[in-house]
Amino acid sequence: MSKPRKVHVKSFGCQMNVYDSHRMADTLAPAGFTETARLEEADLVILNTCHIREKAVEKVYSEIGRIREFKEEAARDGRSMMIAVAGCVAQAEGKEIIRRAGAVDLVVGSQNYHRLPQMLARVQDGEKVVDTEFPVEDKFDVLAAPRRDSIAKRGISAFVTVQEGCDKFCAFCVVPYTRGTEVSRPVEKIVTEVERLAAAGVREITLIGQNVNAYHGLASDGAPATLGKLLRRLAQVPGILRLRYTTSHPRDMDDTLIDAHAELPALMPYVHLPVQSGSDRVLAEMNRRHTREDYLGVIARLRAARADLVFTSDFIVGFPGETEADFRDTLTLVDEIGFAGAYTFIYSPRPGTPAADRPDQISPEVKSERLQRLQALITQHQRKFNAGFAGRELDVLLEKPGRLPGQLVGRSPYLQAVQVMAPANLIGSVQRVTVTEVGSNSLFGALADEARNPAFAAAGA
Ligand code: SF4
Repeated sequence: MSKPRKVHVKSFGCQMNVYDSHRMADTLAPAGFTETARLEEADLVILNTCHIREKAVEKVYSEIGRIREFKEEAARDGRSMMIAVAGCVAQAEGKEIIRRAGAVDLVVGSQNYHRLPQMLARVQDGEKVVDTEFPVEDKFDVLAAPRRDSIAKRGISAFVTVQEGCDKFCAFCVVPYTRGTEVSRPVEKIVTEVERLAAAGVREITLIGQNVNAYHGLASDGAPATLGKLLRRLAQVPGILRLRYTTSHPRDMDDTLIDAHAELPALMPYVHLPVQSGSDRVLAEMNRRHTREDYLGVIARLRAARADLVFTSDFIVGFPGETEADFRDTLTLVDEIGFAGAYTFIYSPRPGTPAADRPDQISPEVKSERLQRLQALITQHQRKFNAGFAGRELDVLLEKPGRLPGQLVGRSPYLQAVQVMAPANLIGSVQRVTVTEVGSNSLFGALADEARNPAFAAAGA
């Protein structure tokens, strides 16, 4: 029996990192580690880092500096605190992290965290450990299964990584360098994980991958499956009420996935489909491998499959060489599609990517002015989209207690947060809700039966 110890995992960046952080905690459980939200009492602190944002590396070093003070305080109290750096910055920086930040004991790449217990044993023997090679074995074959108690803590909705890495090499992006080439998990392994999650009370699964619709994991007949086929298989898992996937690339939106939207009621009518720019010239220079027309064509095919589909996207403004005319092409694309929301980013050079060395960088003033214009337009569309729900009924998956007593929070099919007065025993169920008010960040509603007949609520049914 291992000595009880505590691990604090701090996750930065995308859902894939959140998922990896959960799996790291699961991997460490057999070694006696339980999770703690309190950094100061941890025996092990893991920073699961992200390389996407500007100055990501500097931010990691400053975070390490902050944790080092806790480590020194623990040492004064006669305790030891190990510090590990994981994720994309670990993958990119490797042993440079140990050289620059001596307080770090362990650097572990995105593909290697299944070996954490063995690495920690080496750290305890006084070694500084760096493990960032892309391994021959697949971490998913070796990882401990998610534990029932840890799943239960995570709630009704769970992420499941089905694919990692990317072969697209967009000119601005570090993912192909930090996460490696595309690798997909076999269908049955994913089905087993989803069955386990469903048995522990999870009702909604979001399949995640850097390029999730490039999924090509092997099916039980030995042939590669598509994401559409995988979704069809997962829709049969008892207890799973909703399926989602993110993040997709327009080029990989194949017929099996589009047909899945037409055929699977469990597949939610919400697609996050990054476009990055509305200008063909910029798209070509970004090496996106699709045009504006291609993107509009994909949207049209998806809308033909399911009329109520809504779209969100990612945009980068101020890519090197972007002119005002290019930027206006982005604005007109937003108007043409009418996105329900979007993530907008100012372009910032990532060392090692082709666009980083271009001489025609855009000035910070122009970039931030364009960002504001784009955000204002997207907010306008988002408000219009949400306003359209006033008085309408929606299916809401109730997820957890809200801030007010007697209130629950759930999600609409379109991922809007919905606050509703409802008894706690409805958590985990999908309820028909009448939207009574549209707020800036969420919708407010009443259970539809109560809205139709207030006596229903008074009777406590
Ligand atoms: S498709 Fe996405 S993950 Fe792949 S290189 Fe382009 S932006 Fe990065």
